[in-house]
Amino acid sequence: MTTLSTTENVTAKVDAAVRAFDRLRRTSPTERAELLEAVAQALEANAATLIPLAQAESHLPQARLTGELARTTYQLRSFAQLLRAGDFAEVIIDHAKTDTPLGPTPDLRRHLIPLGPVAMFSASNFPFAFSVAGGDTASALAAGCSVIVKAHSGHPELSATTAAVVRDALVSAGAPDGTLDVVYGQQSGIALLQDPRIAAGAFTGSTWGGRALFDVAAARQRPIPFYGELGSVNPVVVSREASKAKADAIATGLVDSFTLGAGQFCTKPGVIFVPEGSTIPKLAQNALADAPAQALLNDRITAAYADSEAHFHQVAGVDTLVLGAVTDVGVTPSLFRTTLGNLLEHAGTLLEERFGPSVILVEYPAGADLASLLDSFEGSLTVTIHALDTGDVGIGDALDRASLIAGRIVWNGWPTGVAVSAAMTHGGPYPSATSALHTSVGVTAIRRFQRPVSYQNVPDLGLPESLRNANPLGLVRAVK
Ligand code: NAP
Repeated sequence: MTTLSTTENVTAKVDAAVRAFDRLRRTSPTERAELLEAVAQALEANAATLIPLAQAESHLPQARLTGELARTTYQLRSFAQLLRAGDFAEVIIDHAKTDTPLGPTPDLRRHLIPLGPVAMFSASNFPFAFSVAGGDTASALAAGCSVIVKAHSGHPELSATTAAVVRDALVSAGAPDGTLDVVYGQQSGIALLQDPRIAAGAFTGSTWGGRALFDVAAARQRPIPFYGELGSVNPVVVSREASKAKADAIATGLVDSFTLGAGQFCTKPGVIFVPEGSTIPKLAQNALADAPAQALLNDRITAAYADSEAHFHQVAGVDTLVLGAVTDVGVTPSLFRTTLGNLLEHAGTLLEERFGPSVILVEYPAGADLASLLDSFEGSLTVTIHALDTGDVGIGDALDRASLIAGRIVWNGWPTGVAVSAAMTHGGPYPSATSALHTSVGVTAIRRFQRPVSYQNVPDLGLPESLRNANPLGLVRAVK
């Protein structure tokens, strides 16, 4: 059984993480790639232990967890590949010049170095991919940072077992002790984030939890970056033309997307705009007729979801097309409908994230400007647009408006399912994330744990290897 960590315990773990960082930051990219590959291999070798543990603690089905573990090892190997490709340090070498409009300039060489030990807070709904060995840990290790994870209370035994597997793999592959550790309990997480030697925080979870911890990071005597990936409403806009041409496919796709994983995805579509008179509401209602009950992740999430559902269908002007049941054994989906005017009147309530299988359809009137439908939304991980590829009225403006509020814009698809790709942005303006500057999925996530340092007129022998003339590490470099 895991027990809550004490403050002394947290301090001792940070001591070890600081020592480990001092060695990790000096490792070569190839050595770090080998560490990440060793972790991936060890997770695969221990799948038969890890997956049943995850199933027991999270109530997620085996097939989903098997896929998630594969995603987790793929993420680790993607960062290893990035390190081997030498394209992670943004090296710029700007040789001295005598003839610029501002006169002579010095020899300047810039690269990115690891920030320091990272405090990582994992999410409940991805016990592998956004937890102990997930994307935040992989990207921080790739950068050369040690990591201390605040385990999620929803899967403590899995966190402890995963950490043991990862630690063994790291140490066998030559990593220092203290490269990865875990603490338990909210107070330990706060103590960890407040330790002056922690250089950055990473978080995946609720908007409230993320904001509370962001405030802790900002209130330190020496504030640190805190990368929170939070909740999101993920609006979907269906054009009049798309509603006429493919109502069936859109209704089915919507139902699949918002009920997937019992709606417990930060990318679940929460609000979908359809034109007045569209058949999509009726088709979606029919598609939900025999929807099975699905277990939610834990009691805390079940209680919060039950509470939001109980209030939601009583908001004035909200029609209940399907009222889901919330019981101890699971939940069935809910489908609501309202008008654009009513949504605007009750935006505070109707535009809150509801973490579970529940969605609201909003009917917009003839002549409505599609771009303006997005005006009442705050930052969102995604915006989805369903339209005809030939270009429907107002779609160009809607795409442009979407880019102002979202990290990812989905065309004729669904937002659930975040591809692990070098070009992925999983983040967005607040409140979908606490920093709109980065992504937590895809290899550019490494950038959160690196900072730039420039060397001015330093002779070759005094430079770090990445900046030397001979480029001994074979890094991708821009030379001016
Ligand atoms: P959560 O309740 O916010 O918990 C996340 C972590 O933060 C846990 O370790 C929790 O500790 C800790 N925590 C929360 N509030 C805290 C506080 N006030 N002080 C100290 N520690 C605190 O998140 P969750 O249970 O995973 O809930 C699901 C939410 O995550 C949804 O809103 C979903 O949209 C979001 N999510 C976002 C993404 C994304 O990538 N943007 C991905 C998945 C999920 P304990 O466990 O000990 O309580």
